[in-house]
Amino acid sequence: MLDFEWLTPSTVAEACQLAAQHGEEARFMAGGTALMLALRQRLVTPQAVISLAGISELRGLTWDATRGLRIGALTLHDELAQHPAVASHYPMLTHLARHMANPQVRHQGTVGGNLCYGDPSTDPPTGLLVWNAEVEIANAQRSRRLPLRDFLVDYFTTALAPDELLVAVHLPPPSAYTCSRYARHMRTAAEHRPLATVATVAIVNQGQCDEMRLAVGASSVVPRRLTTAEDVLTGRVPTAALVAQAADAAANELDALDDARGSAEFRRAMVRVTVWRELSALFELPDSQ
Ligand SMILES: Cc1cc2nc3c(=O)[nH]c(=O)nc-3n(C[C@H](O)[C@H](O)[C@H](O)COP(=O)(O)OP(=O)(O)OC[C@H]3O[C@@H](n4cnc5c(N)ncnc54)[C@H](O)[C@@H]3O)c2cc1C
Repeated sequence: MLDFEWLTPSTVAEACQLAAQHGEEARFMAGGTALMLALRQRLVTPQAVISLAGISELRGLTWDATRGLRIGALTLHDELAQHPAVASHYPMLTHLARHMANPQVRHQGTVGGNLCYGDPSTDPPTGLLVWNAEVEIANAQRSRRLPLRDFLVDYFTTALAPDELLVAVHLPPPSAYTCSRYARHMRTAAEHRPLATVATVAIVNQGQCDEMRLAVGASSVVPRRLTTAEDVLTGRVPTAALVAQAADAAANELDALDDARGSAEFRRAMVRVTVWRELSALFELPDSQ
């Protein structure tokens, strides 16, 4: 059994001070679904584990028509799945949170822990990117906000400094003409983890797509918005031909992972067809491919 000090701060400032004191030798623990596995496999061997469970500032989901949605870092995936304001204003996130992982992980794992681990084979980062999410980060002295796309730096790497923690995720309120979808492609039905995730948000007014946002994850080192594909549809009236063009653009733009779960070529093919299906459904176009 690993021997480590168990620390239980009750404020963000206290947790960050403890992290600053211990430096690389400490790890925060939220729900523990990822960290416990890493500890058991000796992938990390910290001298101190700082539990975030007693910090009330990190809890809660709040909706405000002007400010949008605040998702506290300790929000469970299941809380996201069940929250009425999420279902009303960001229904795609309700779908995402209801279908990811398994019931045990959804009731124990947190949104903050998911983002901070930086694992590419996950769902929330892709879904949050298309809502223009920002993350609120704090250390003992100050807090800062940055776009989620800048927070997700590389494979299992985020923009967090060792003495910083994620406090909350903020989503601006959506426009009245917003429609959205989320899909995850599974390599086999027995797996929990997606091979490719596709999130779409479109602002459609009088038949024209005023703004297209499209993110792909789980098939690249970090989930990313695919702007070439977005540009195919932004400012246009969506047609089957444009959707097919956007799907091709997404597959070409993807910097695809090539690993034991799928070759880069296979991932690009799955992304292409998933983007094509999702955009066809989003714009209610015939599904004829
Ligand atoms: C069997 C299984 C299946 C899964 N399937 C899926 C899936 O289908 N889709 C999916 O998206 N995910 C999946 N996951 C991953 C799961 O979503 C994450 O493990 C979970 O969200 C992590 O949250 P946690 O609270 O348990 O984090 P923890 O394990 O407590 O922490 C994870 C990491 O983040 C750090 N951390 C946690 N909170 C903070 C914070 N507020 N600030 C700074 N650092 C922090 C910790 O130090 C640690 O390094 C699966 C996990 C398992 C075990």
